[in-house]
Amino acid sequence: MKPDDYAELRNLVRYDARRREFTASSCSGKHRFESFTQADRTIRRDLRKQARAYHCSDCHGYHVGGVANYRRKRLAREGKCA
Ligand SMILES: [Zn+2]
Repeated sequence: MKPDDYAELRNLVRYDARRREFTASSCSGKHRFESFTQADRTIRRDLRKQARAYHCSDCHGYHVGGVANYRRKRLAREGKCA
């Protein structure tokens, strides 16, 4: 293989990993809301510190996600913890 082929293969692998991570973290197993207000209203007051409604760039709907979970994922992505 030429060096160019290796570069392209690496890009493909990276793209696939990112796509898989994105799909798994956005829509799978989550209820989709039509509006932010609708999603936000389903979060009980005592859960507000742990859960948050957010816009999903994948399905263009809204989901409710755990803040702690989001933070852990973000830190892991930034390489700050395992
Ligand atoms: Zn979604």
